[in-house]
Amino acid sequence: MSKIKICNAEYEIVFRPLKDAVFNGCSEIGKCDGINYIIYIAEDMPSNRKIQTLIHELIHALLNEANYSRIIHNKLGEFEEPFVEAMEKPLLSLFIDNDINDIIREIK
Ligand SMILES: [Zn+2]
Repeated sequence: MSKIKICNAEYEIVFRPLKDAVFNGCSEIGKCDGINYIIYIAEDMPSNRKIQTLIHELIHALLNEANYSRIIHNKLGEFEEPFVEAMEKPLLSLFIDNDINDIIREIK
C-alpha cells in the first residue's frame, strides 16, 4: 500500500474494485476519507484515470488538512466538486511537468 504524507497525516492509498465503491447508491471512482486518512481509488480504470482520480482525492485531502474542507463545503455548496475538478489539471501538471524536489534543493 502506498502512503502520502500531508502535514502530519499519512493517507493510505487503497485500490479497490469499482463494484465495492458504492456510496449512497452511486459508484465512486475515488473517495477521500479524511477521518481515517484513506484515499480509495477504483482499480479497474486506465492508469491515467487512476492518476487523475488520485489527484482529485488529494485536493480533498489538502483541503481537509488545511482545515478548509468544511468552509469550502459550506460556502461553495454544489460548486465544491467543480472547484476540486478545476484544480485537477493544474495540480497534475505541477507534479508531472516539474521536479519540485529539485527546485526546493536549488532554493536551499
Ligand atoms: Zn470530489
